Amino acid sequence: MAIAKVEPLTTARALRGPFDYLLPERLAGVGVGSLLLVPFGRRRVAGVVVEVAESSELPPERLVEPIQALEAGAPPELVRLGLWVAREYCSTPARGLELVLPPGSGRAGSGPGPRLVQLAAATEAGRAALEDGTRLGRRQRGALEALVSDGAPGELSARDLEAAGADLGTLRRLEARGLVSMRTKESSRRPAVVEVGAPSRRPRLSAAQQEALGAVVLAMDGSGERELLLHGVTGSGKTEVYLAATEAALERGRGAMILVPEIALTPQAVSRFVARFGDRVALLHSRLTGGERRDEWQRLRSGEARICVGPRSAAFAPVREPGLVVLAGSATPRPESWLALRRLELPHRADGRALPPVEVVDMRGTQAPLHSRTMESLAEVREARAKAIVLLNRRGWSPFVSCRSCGRAWSCPHCDVSLVAHKRAGELRCHHCGHAERLPESCPDCGSVTLARHGAGTERVESLLADAVAPLPVFRLDSDSAAGAGSHLEILRRFDAADAGVLVGTQMVAKGHDFPDVVLSVVLDADATLRFPDFRAEERTFALVAQLAGRSGRGPRGGRVLVQTIAPEAPAIAHASSHDAVGFLAGELERRRALRYPPYSHLVRVEVTSPDAARAEAAAGAIHDALAPGLQDGTELLGPAPRFRLRARHRRQLLVKSSDRGAGVTAVREAVEAVSTARLLRGVALGVDVDPQ
Ligand code: ADP
Ligand code: ZN
Ligand code: ZN
Repeated sequence: MAIAKVEPLTTARALRGPFDYLLPERLAGVGVGSLLLVPFGRRRVAGVVVEVAESSELPPERLVEPIQALEAGAPPELVRLGLWVAREYCSTPARGLELVLPPGSGRAGSGPGPRLVQLAAATEAGRAALEDGTRLGRRQRGALEALVSDGAPGELSARDLEAAGADLGTLRRLEARGLVSMRTKESSRRPAVVEVGAPSRRPRLSAAQQEALGAVVLAMDGSGERELLLHGVTGSGKTEVYLAATEAALERGRGAMILVPEIALTPQAVSRFVARFGDRVALLHSRLTGGERRDEWQRLRSGEARICVGPRSAAFAPVREPGLVVLAGSATPRPESWLALRRLELPHRADGRALPPVEVVDMRGTQAPLHSRTMESLAEVREARAKAIVLLNRRGWSPFVSCRSCGRAWSCPHCDVSLVAHKRAGELRCHHCGHAERLPESCPDCGSVTLARHGAGTERVESLLADAVAPLPVFRLDSDSAAGAGSHLEILRRFDAADAGVLVGTQMVAKGHDFPDVVLSVVLDADATLRFPDFRAEERTFALVAQLAGRSGRGPRGGRVLVQTIAPEAPAIAHASSHDAVGFLAGELERRRALRYPPYSHLVRVEVTSPDAARAEAAAGAIHDALAPGLQDGTELLGPAPRFRLRARHRRQLLVKSSDRGAGVTAVREAVEAVSTARLLRGVALGVDVDPQ
């Protein structure tokens, strides 16, 4: 008797799988990772086989058979990974398994199938027909001639034969006459890769790069430390080390998984991998069409592609025998990585240029969004007909609108945040839920027409810059402009192609591209991210300022950086301004140790949300009460604390801080399981986040 143990792909937290199904002869090919359609109570659901056993604890009369096997499944080692992630991150087996299934095959049902093309080849009779005067239509003759012409691959699709005036109908008629034979083949849909920035030649590696590569190759071959951090400023040649390490993996018959922060922000890195490795690279990210994602996944699974490039989720891709997984690399490493990983240093820029000087511009006492120092520097850029990048991490015209007479402030009806004015669209928008309303002309409370717009976002700065640098062009890059007329890459390409101009935008302008002729980088409101109530605020601020600082002066004209801030002494800003990652990390780690934040503790966050505040409160309280008694020494429980209302849901948060990650996770899992069977969770959604980022 063969028994398939199946985890159904449902959202219910309270289910305790896996469930046993009897495998009949017709399903003999089913193994770990197979996707089955199974009867489940009164429903039919898709489920993943996590084990095949010889017997079941259930009596035979209670065992039922699966309805059918579904198309694709996941490789067994990825099933183990999915289940491990589910356990380790306090999630459900279904969620963990969905990470590793072929795209489109999860709970949402089956995605697009393979794309099929019909290929035609000339038969003997077909070849003869061209010679012996057999009557052929003009298109039929054209198609046959193309099929037998010198250098033709032997098989062609209808599309290949378009030039000969033939279509699928022509081929079908030839097939009916026995003059061609046809077969159906799967054809991969491949995502387009756009080239941005300078093309990369394969350089001779510097001594520091060689040394780093050597350590990576040692790790790949099983000696040496396996968890490495490549630390080097932007432009120090890290990507070149990744390319070389990937090559080393391929030489060993192994694959590579290259994880990038966000694919849209790293077009240059992606195109460099594709340029170097061609079809052996598969891209997996959320902007692909369903068909492209499916086909890229299948190319990895079949081993046709050996390298996967994508954001974090690409860590679950079916790369065969990966030799290189995640070699962390950054100009601004996270404190966790700094402490835990062995560092490989690339201390200098590959082009030998010094990092650009940074000037901190104190904005205390200045009302205008652009300081006079900044205006002077922009004027120099205009005079020199050069390029500048301006970063402001806030979209829209102004982040806050109020009535000057009665003080009314416009806020989102669904979230506890203020609405952002978008002038060109003539709207007030919520940046959290997407709510939009017309920009008001008068105050609905007091009728006054004197409304004030406070502060500046990218849209307003774009307009200020256009005046400041005219006639140079100004390009705006943020999710508003990238969603509209010009896509993100198109905007970068226009800036790249212009011989002078200013690029202004959100953090999208700070990452991953390389424009050699930028002579000035400006960060506006550099401390904005410091004001977030999050222990990572310092780290994020440092990274953003340091990243942008690295964007300037990468060409022969040199460059400099201005950082506008009302907190010039804040360590994140002061250290970023002196390109001092080491100094920043030393101080930041000290602060984290004192406050017992990661990496000196592990955090598990539990978030409870409900449209009804009282329910959220009650559920959070119940989880607190279930958690509190069982906590071990060295584990703290914080909250429940209210968080701002979001998308019409009231939120409460609990935070477990523990020195032992496993203990923290287990405590939360048990509490959540205990409470999830109670009625208290009606109308309440629960999220658990281990090591929240
Ligand atoms: P990072 O990933 O650290 O930003 P890159 O690998 O993109 O750095 O390198 C920055 C630039 O320097 C690229 O144009 C790259 O082609 C070039 N480069 C990298 N290594 C070398 C080298 N050893 N010799 C010459 N040029 C190099
Ligand atoms: Zn008013
Ligand atoms: Zn909202």
